[in-house]
Amino acid sequence: MSENHRTRVDSRSKAAFERAKRVIPGGVNSPVRAFKSVGLTPLVIERGEGSRITDIDGQTYIDYVLSWGPLIAGHAHPEVVEAIKRTAEKGTSFGAPTELETLMAELVCERVPSIDVVRMVNSGTEATMSALRLARGYTRRSKILKFEGSYHGHADSLLIKAGSGVATLGLPDSPGVPESVAVHTLTVPYNDLDAVKLAFERYGEEIAAVIVEPIAGNMGVVPPLPGFLSGLRELTTTYGSLLIFDEVMTGFRVHRNCAQGLYGITPDLTCLGKVIGGGLPVGAYGGRREIMDHMAPVGPIYQAGTLSGNPLAMAAGYTTLKLMTEEAYQHLEQLSIRLQAGLESNARETGIPMTLNRVGSMVCPFFTDKHVINYEIAKTANTERFRTVFRRLLDNGVNIAPSPFEGWFVSTAHNNDDIDETISSHRAALLKL
Ligand code: PLP
Repeated sequence: MSENHRTRVDSRSKAAFERAKRVIPGGVNSPVRAFKSVGLTPLVIERGEGSRITDIDGQTYIDYVLSWGPLIAGHAHPEVVEAIKRTAEKGTSFGAPTELETLMAELVCERVPSIDVVRMVNSGTEATMSALRLARGYTRRSKILKFEGSYHGHADSLLIKAGSGVATLGLPDSPGVPESVAVHTLTVPYNDLDAVKLAFERYGEEIAAVIVEPIAGNMGVVPPLPGFLSGLRELTTTYGSLLIFDEVMTGFRVHRNCAQGLYGITPDLTCLGKVIGGGLPVGAYGGRREIMDHMAPVGPIYQAGTLSGNPLAMAAGYTTLKLMTEEAYQHLEQLSIRLQAGLESNARETGIPMTLNRVGSMVCPFFTDKHVINYEIAKTANTERFRTVFRRLLDNGVNIAPSPFEGWFVSTAHNNDDIDETISSHRAALLKL
């Protein structure tokens, strides 16, 4: 392969990133974008179309980041772009009700088993933060229980043992989060129901909620072990705590009815984001009416947003969800199985230890032969190997997240040729290890 632009000193991406660093902290508006963990200058993106992105140096990559998950229908899907344009022509924000918000809410309520009523916000972080406030206000308890390596956005209570971005940068546990806040957050290993039981035996009367990614997506991809989610459902019910599914990543990504539809477990509250915004800034939280009625203006718990339910975001999200038919999910499944099979066969043939976890279109090859069921084990995967393979994939025109603690996302815009090209780039990368 010829020398890649990132290794040249004169690339436009490099110059643009240097310029950005002068006025934006670290040159990025979200830390993982800086490529620090892989020791490279990030791609500075010019455009995206379907399964591919093009940087400002004119290099095109098959993209498995998809804006960290939202773009399930691929970049700049014509129907999504058209919906945004049509909506924008009528005004971009009103701070007053629109029919589009109701349409979107109806669709979410229809598809997500746990949701009778849903409130739109602007990010996944806002969704989880608001769901916690609701859980605390509703139960009149303070503590929450989360899982090590799970990321639920960057609200104070949740930025504790928080996986992916934090782990990738090796930051200490959340500087800036007051201890007085952190003491209310209990953390136990993912998939460890016994640890959850112990926590409930000790603090049961104080725990407002358990918040869980029903498929952990911020320590790579780690599916729930059989009985884990149902065990959480039972324990929270027994102790009068709420069960919150953080489906910001998994919502409409793994199944038409989200992870809760896939596993048949109904939480009390659900947080959404990413896919439901179709690439525009959106989050949402919802649940049973009896609980949601505690939110203002019906109830006393406050949460608000100038741009919440933004028409452009509703249009993009609604159109994206409408595109995600049964057939679309089948197509995603077929592509993801093909990708999994190819990556696994590359590892077998080259003798590189690798364990691949996959649920639907969330795919994560770990460089380890261990069964990855929690963050402790995910961390034992070979990160040096990840870095090398990441660079080689990029050089060969394949863009994956610059972190071993993130999965690869497949979109309906990918096709078999994209997948096969990816598999051969991956094989070439492994062969040189
Ligand atoms: N929850 C989960 C499971 C996530 O993966 C993320 C983001 O990656 C968030 C919450 C936070 O969402 P946002 O980045 O939109 O604030």
